Amino acid sequence: MGQLFDLPTGVAVPVEGTLDVFPVRRIFCVGRNYEKHAAEMGGEVDREAPWYFTKSAAHAVLSGQTVPFPQGTSNYHHEMELAVYLGADAFEVSADAAGSAILGYSCALDMTRRDRQQDGKDHRRPWDLGKDVENGAVLAPLSRGFSVAPDVRIHLEVNGEVRQDATLSELVWSVEEVVSHLSHFYRLGAGDVILTGTPAGVGPVVAGDVITGGIDGLAPIELTLVDPAE
Ligand code: MN
Repeated sequence: MGQLFDLPTGVAVPVEGTLDVFPVRRIFCVGRNYEKHAAEMGGEVDREAPWYFTKSAAHAVLSGQTVPFPQGTSNYHHEMELAVYLGADAFEVSADAAGSAILGYSCALDMTRRDRQQDGKDHRRPWDLGKDVENGAVLAPLSRGFSVAPDVRIHLEVNGEVRQDATLSELVWSVEEVVSHLSHFYRLGAGDVILTGTPAGVGPVVAGDVITGGIDGLAPIELTLVDPAE
């Protein structure tokens, strides 16, 4: 009895200032966690509870990569996000207890086929084609020393032009509230990553664009898109 074929090993995110890496198990994403972004999408934030979609860990790439522009879209969008990395079990935890499961943070991109996401909304179908895009979850090196504070700036540029610029004060649901809430649906644990939503200013990118972004106190993120024919 043998394994029929080999699979590539998953993405492992470098831990800043160490030789360690964080192997990614699952990627959860929070929807509409910044009010102005919810508004630009034609919706409102949900004050009752956060809500989620997922991205395959197999579709994650590290910051600094050059990747092909994905097929099946003519409206591929950038979303700059704060990613939270779990290093310990969190199952049905309170927000107060959630912090002890958090190992660190990084910059992340939630790349989105906005046209396919809109199709899903229009036809009341799932968002997979819009959100679970190959190379569509981009992760920068994680920091273990970072702490979320209201005045921390989060920003994104396309070819050097600022597109998204906000502070973490705009987060509707805190990181601890998200971990707590999500832990009532999943047995969260080491290897899980949560992208906490994007501020306003999302917009399209095309082949040839260089996306850069940053969050004060974290390693910056970069992604270059190229024509798949190149
Ligand atoms: Mn997002």
